[in-house]
Amino acid sequence: MDSQIVKQPPVSPAASIDDIIRKIQAYNPQASVDVLRRAYDVSAKAHEGQTRQSGEPYLFHPLAVAAILTDLKMDVPSIVAGLLHDTIEDTLVSRESIEQEFGPDVMRLVDGVTKIGKIRFKSYEEKQAENFRKMILSMAEDIRVILIKLADRLHNMRTLGALKEPKQQRIARETLEIYAPLANRLGIGWMKNELEDLCLRYLKPEAYNSLVAKVATQLAERERYVHSVIDTVKATMEQYGFTARVLGRPKHFYGIYSKMERREIAFEEVYDLIGIRIITDTKIACYGILGMIHSLWKPVPGRFKDYIGVPKSNLYQSLHTTVIGPQGEHVEFQIRTEEMNRVAEEGIAAHWRYKEHGQIDEKDSKLFSWLRQLVEWQQDLTDNRQFLNSIKMDLFSDVIYVFTPKGDVIELVKGSTPIDMAYAVHTEIGNRCTGAKINGKIAPLKSLLKSGDTVEIVTSPSQVPTKDWLKIAKTPKAKARIKHWINIEERKQSLEIGKRLLERELRRHHLSPAEVFKSEALVKIASDSGLSSSEDLLIALGYGRVSLNHVINRLLPEPALKEGLKDKLLTSIGRQGQGVTIKGVNDIMITLAKCCNPVPGDKILGFITRGRGLSIHAVDCPNIDELDYDRDRLVEVDWDVKQAATHPVKISVVTMDRPGMLAKTSAAITAAEANISHAEITTTDDKKAVFNFVVDVLDTAHLAKVFKQIERVEGVIQTRRTRRG
Ligand code: MN
Repeated sequence: MDSQIVKQPPVSPAASIDDIIRKIQAYNPQASVDVLRRAYDVSAKAHEGQTRQSGEPYLFHPLAVAAILTDLKMDVPSIVAGLLHDTIEDTLVSRESIEQEFGPDVMRLVDGVTKIGKIRFKSYEEKQAENFRKMILSMAEDIRVILIKLADRLHNMRTLGALKEPKQQRIARETLEIYAPLANRLGIGWMKNELEDLCLRYLKPEAYNSLVAKVATQLAERERYVHSVIDTVKATMEQYGFTARVLGRPKHFYGIYSKMERREIAFEEVYDLIGIRIITDTKIACYGILGMIHSLWKPVPGRFKDYIGVPKSNLYQSLHTTVIGPQGEHVEFQIRTEEMNRVAEEGIAAHWRYKEHGQIDEKDSKLFSWLRQLVEWQQDLTDNRQFLNSIKMDLFSDVIYVFTPKGDVIELVKGSTPIDMAYAVHTEIGNRCTGAKINGKIAPLKSLLKSGDTVEIVTSPSQVPTKDWLKIAKTPKAKARIKHWINIEERKQSLEIGKRLLERELRRHHLSPAEVFKSEALVKIASDSGLSSSEDLLIALGYGRVSLNHVINRLLPEPALKEGLKDKLLTSIGRQGQGVTIKGVNDIMITLAKCCNPVPGDKILGFITRGRGLSIHAVDCPNIDELDYDRDRLVEVDWDVKQAATHPVKISVVTMDRPGMLAKTSAAITAAEANISHAEITTTDDKKAVFNFVVDVLDTAHLAKVFKQIERVEGVIQTRRTRRG
């Protein structure tokens, strides 16, 4: 093969620690050799006696990984971590001993690689693969962790032949979906190509073998053709005064394969088995040479790409064009500068240039616009050997990735709880969730989730969302679904309340509710009130947004109007266990107000709340004054006791401050057959004691009996019912 055809990618042969040290010293003369030898010794000792599936000593693997890291021109801590990367997982070496011997930096790198190694990729959907890549990026706090993991995976792929077939398939698949795209994202083209070719070899062996054979037979002919094109280009460049290197570049097998698949074409129809790359010195020259090529051969429309003007997200820059060549075939050109070529070949590694003192070049670091989105620089670059330590993930800092029990990855915002996870899976699961298991352990709904957690949602058919959930939920989706559910429930209740209120009022005026509800008149009132249906009108009535008088006045004939104008709704209340319902209507929510605790016998008023049914207050409740501004929502109600039940009442008893007063007072309350559910004692400066009780009584008569009993106790000064506090 002609020397002008460059063979990618570089392959690291079985390396020795001396080879590795020599390679590091070539690009980083300041590198500390001592620590590398110590790491080698620790790794050799830890893996002693272990062998790989292939039968070779295990130590070959960490050495090969370290060698790949020198291909990427990594710093010393990364290479030390490469040598040690399997020790925590597979040997007796502990995190602590690594930290002690090699420092926290190396320990964190080894730990990070171990952590990523534990992520199991289970789902093959495209979107899931993207989430996995993001998860890996977000879990690695340091970009070097990903590069070490990539080196590890590359060597494992190179030696995949030793494994059994199902394992080969799983690892190759994971590599193709997760790691090759990561290498691409980091701009390491040669690594991406090598990983993809290795994947193809194991995933589609027939396709791979036939491609290798076909390329071998066609390549000689293609090369002759490419050289004739290269000669023409070179001659013309000389004529115009351009200086540049012109190279033929064989496409990698996976590239050819995916082109055939994508376009549904046969191998014979893939013309650009070899592309031509022109590497010159300036940007201007790139565009000049492009113009020259377009004047030599006709460009194929739609195939010109200016990645110099608009670089790819991984910083790749180049001009791409395809022309119709001398024999009528498509020829692909890539035109770039030497610097752009280095970035394209080495990716992220192209940017850590070791200056005299091993410091990163500031100008180079500015090139990292995409990486600066991805990572956050800590500007403390004073420690020469650890400058890469400063690269941290930033792009995904607001996002976490968690697993479902099936292994799907769900993207959530930071601060999310199991409720967010439940709604992300399905609204029904959200509405029914009662708790969660995080990594197998029972956890409350308000627990904070973190990247990598496996979260199983526990549901119950009787569970419903509550307003409290809005405080726990973090994602807009979960919040919206909870609000939606609560709104629907409130509408249902309000409709019921509105219907009942109007029904009663209509009966009082001898009108038939059934007819009115169906009538055009009601629709008209609704539309005059800016509402779209009579149902919406009833809901508005139930919410208290539309007053009962407003509706009834328009339904009544003139004379009736005069007579019943300021009338209020009279209704009776029956008690039912702890709750209370309007007599004959069981499905309206009625609550006794907690501020005044009315009991049967008290004069009461009903207040139509917004969406929470009817709330019953004592007429002398201090809150009534505040509620009064909404007069239309106050309705007169009365007790109707059919069945005995107790209600809590707050009372206050003032006594002399003497021993035994509390016991005697309590005994008096019990003697009146009332239960004490709460008691508080305070003493005053003037030698008095104040007891605040909550007692459960049947009605006002029962309460009077309680007071009477208490007042018999010697030393009691005053008894009083309290409304608030
Ligand atoms: Mn490994």
